[in-house]
Amino acid sequence: LLMAYDPARRLARLQVRVEAAVTNARMLYEILDIEPHQRDVDGAKSLVTDNARIEFRDVTFSYGNGKPVLDRVSFVAEGGKTTALVGPSGAGKSTIINLIPRFYDPEGGSILIDGQDIAMVTKSSLREHLAYVSQQPYLFEGTIRDNIRYGRPDATDVQVEEAARLAYAHDFILAQPMGYDTPVGENGVTLSGGQRQRLSIARALVRNAPILLLDEATSALDTESEAFVQKALDTAMAGRTVIVIAHRLSTVVNADKIVVMHEGKVAEEGTHESLSARENGLYARLNNLQTVRTDI
Ligand code: ADP
Ligand code: MG
Repeated sequence: LLMAYDPARRLARLQVRVEAAVTNARMLYEILDIEPHQRDVDGAKSLVTDNARIEFRDVTFSYGNGKPVLDRVSFVAEGGKTTALVGPSGAGKSTIINLIPRFYDPEGGSILIDGQDIAMVTKSSLREHLAYVSQQPYLFEGTIRDNIRYGRPDATDVQVEEAARLAYAHDFILAQPMGYDTPVGENGVTLSGGQRQRLSIARALVRNAPILLLDEATSALDTESEAFVQKALDTAMAGRTVIVIAHRLSTVVNADKIVVMHEGKVAEEGTHESLSARENGLYARLNNLQTVRTDI
């Protein structure tokens, strides 16, 4: 079993320098299960998914300073569907996302994937089922190919290129001086924001995981990049269970379900239409501000 993880660890140690003290790097780093010490409960089983339905059941959590951050949060992210988290800054959206890979464990309640409590399965099997795309795309020292393969260290060149095509990255990669072997990161070529994002989507796609956790970018890209990034995300989201911290109105409107968070609680949930129709609902009020950013 240890040997199975060896290539990932070698890659992490020898080829990758993770910028320190950045949460998103930590998210990426840990989600790939390359941290050496993973403690599982005795007799932990492997997570087995069918359609990867995620359920939060009365989840309560604080970061340990006494301030409750999530207060009996319950909702279901249906398998193969997109659930959008919206709400004011500090409402607990990122915390919800952080609990799924078990960076932290709830103080009360439980999180289930296809009926299995994630506290009772091995972390490695849990994280194999997850992919994460952050709003700040990360590039490591190394080639473009390395950067995509980081999503799955045993991916073949063909699988890396397939992921790049799906992420609308293949063409701009071929246009780089050395194609897939072009160095990026501090000592490599400079890529645009949209290109970086598409590489990070390719990195998630090469994992071919059934669950996608997405922290949507707020920063405006140029229109052309934006269109490609959106298409890449649409591809990544199709057929997967997606939980997205939504910043764009279009993402919210198109989501199968919207969970509106407020001060650590689920304030309301529904579709764009049902929530908009609630006269004094939080969502309707946010919407009335006619802001594209729902995270205000
Ligand atoms: P959102 O993503 O909706 O803006 P967060 O989940 O990031 O909200 O934060 C919810 C609350 O938890 C906020 O009050 C925030 O200050 C606090 N918080 C977030 N991360 C940490 C942390 N690592 N340590 C302590 N408090 C945190
Ligand atoms: Mg957040």
